[in-house]
Amino acid sequence: MTLKIAFISLGCSKNLINTEQMMALCKAAGHQVTGEPEGADVAVLNTCGFIDAAKSEAIEHIIALGELKQAGKLGKLLVCGCLSQRYPEEIKKDLPEVDGLMGTGSYDQIVSAVEAVAKGENPDLFGDISATSEEGERLVTTPGYTAFLKIAEGCDNFCAFCIIPYLRGRYRSRPMEAILQEAKELADAGVKELILIAQDIGPYGKDLYGERKLSELLRQLCKLPFHWIRLHYLYPDHFDDEVIRVIASQPRIVKYLDIPLQHCSDRLLKSMNRWGTKESLTTLLQNLREKIPGLVLRTSLICGLPGETEEDFEDLCQFVTETGIERAGVFQYSREEGTRAAEMPDQVPEEVAQQRVDRLIELQSRVLDEYNESRLGTVMEVLCEGFDNEMGCYVGRTYADSVEVDGHVYFTAAGLVPAGTFVNVRMTGTEDGDLTGEVEE
Ligand code: SF4
Repeated sequence: MTLKIAFISLGCSKNLINTEQMMALCKAAGHQVTGEPEGADVAVLNTCGFIDAAKSEAIEHIIALGELKQAGKLGKLLVCGCLSQRYPEEIKKDLPEVDGLMGTGSYDQIVSAVEAVAKGENPDLFGDISATSEEGERLVTTPGYTAFLKIAEGCDNFCAFCIIPYLRGRYRSRPMEAILQEAKELADAGVKELILIAQDIGPYGKDLYGERKLSELLRQLCKLPFHWIRLHYLYPDHFDDEVIRVIASQPRIVKYLDIPLQHCSDRLLKSMNRWGTKESLTTLLQNLREKIPGLVLRTSLICGLPGETEEDFEDLCQFVTETGIERAGVFQYSREEGTRAAEMPDQVPEEVAQQRVDRLIELQSRVLDEYNESRLGTVMEVLCEGFDNEMGCYVGRTYADSVEVDGHVYFTAAGLVPAGTFVNVRMTGTEDGDLTGEVEE
């Protein structure tokens, strides 16, 4: 029986790849896959569940899909991913609209799960979250010129505030041949921008080969005809000289690094089981800027960690200003049961934490504006992402802008600029964190 299966993917790019792999498995089994739940036999909701905001979003989707079922516009609902891995009993008890559950260790059983719910059964599949998953095809859902490439799953860092290692398991590198094979298929399919992801790409290879292999993997990937190779989620203590040398010397690797730091206070970094001190982080960023000309940094920061004082926060603000980090995701600490931080004394009141988030975003946006102003009058290469009807011009990104998280360039051109092509744009203005310009004919 051919089923019409709708897939909805929430959360991070790593979760998106799991969704794409499940879509490919269902298609290979002869089922029809779609992104539209209305009219589907089964909807598969791949959830995120690592902080409150993500949990609320997932529950809102479950309720909305439940209403579609109620209205007879959707057959069954299968929920998988981090929320179901974390709260299976609560979901069964409180969300009766859910017909089946799968954990993060069971993605490769998606076909039998959807066929079971379609028959009216209630599958409950929770495999080993640290098991090495089968290498499989995926239906890439990002625009044809950009694609994520997951090089490992899980995490061994056990930051005190983070629940992810308990949802995604221990660190498992993918075999290099499998990564390179997938990368070749993506390049053959016309992908121009390859974005490397994992919970932490830094220790790649250590578990599988007994030594870090990120620099070797990067050299191999640079033999493929990608225009841009972008690195996300580099934990700060994984920067050996070899990795820096490869990033600096390989033109395909964009001089843009996403290094989640979370904070800079020595005391808080220690209590959160994170590497480094304010001094060592400052030295690392200075060293990277010296060795990688034109480097643009992205980071993620948390305000309101247990024990954070006003002085610590001021310290963080000074650190962001002094290091000139051009891009930052600023988050309010989320007290997650099951983490060590949740049990710590000196929890910061939520309203205080939120005020600090607002102040830090305000401050960081000034750093971002300074960076954009420094681009005015220069010509930068832009990946065109299409024509923005609302803005009445083309929109794209420079090497300094990653997908979904950074700004854009809005630009005009005399001729047609197809999506997925690179053009040189002279920057003429800035607006709300974005740049504007015109194609340099
Ligand atoms: S590095 Fe830390 S914050 Fe990131 S996934 Fe691992 S434990 Fe969580």
